[in-house]
Amino acid sequence: MDEVVALGPILRSFPEFNRFYNEERQKRIGFIRWFRDFEMPDGFSAYANNLECAVHYGKSPMSLEDAHIVAHEIMHLIRHQENDLLEIRYRPEFFDLVFRLTNMLEDPIVELFLQKNYDFDLKISYLSAINYCRKCVKKETNDELSRLINGVDLANYMLRWRLIDDVAAQNEWSSYLGWYKNLRPHSYEIADQIVRLVWIHGGAYGAETIENQKKVVAAMINLYPQIRSIISI
Ligand SMILES: [Zn+2]
Repeated sequence: MDEVVALGPILRSFPEFNRFYNEERQKRIGFIRWFRDFEMPDGFSAYANNLECAVHYGKSPMSLEDAHIVAHEIMHLIRHQENDLLEIRYRPEFFDLVFRLTNMLEDPIVELFLQKNYDFDLKISYLSAINYCRKCVKKETNDELSRLINGVDLANYMLRWRLIDDVAAQNEWSSYLGWYKNLRPHSYEIADQIVRLVWIHGGAYGAETIENQKKVVAAMINLYPQIRSIISI
């Protein structure tokens, strides 16, 4: 898909995206491949593939929420090209865990950048994620790996929600967390522990450098021995 065609509507409609496009996308990265996929992973409306330098998206970006998500994916590609990002080695059947883990480390950093520099309204997509999860999140199973994956995903949002200062939105988030904790007590506990590790080894808004990200993953391997045989850094 041609980039200008794919992004035309959001370039025309949203000044924050337009400014982001000129300052970051144009200046910091070369050719990006754009793929419209009819099948997307659960809960994702777009994702970046660093190795292909590509963004995969489900429906054509139109809304401010879509613009935020597109900018977010472009930032993943930029950070991957500019920095020597954390490489986690893993057995192929554990791709899902590693995919979510690297997102948990990178997402809060990307979001802070988009909010601080371009004033993207992050809460729009966070609130729609809550709506989506209220419909799809089921009771946790006894499987330790799936609890860990849940915990990593929730930790990602716990870190991102620290960037939101809107009171009504924060109330919505607290009520969601209460609901989640009741449904998945173990996954919730894991998320809480992971957030603490990120605070200790990174900072209040996440672990930005590869050194800090490595420390977080090493601490996780220590805390959850079951992943010791699955991933390494
Ligand atoms: Zn992301």
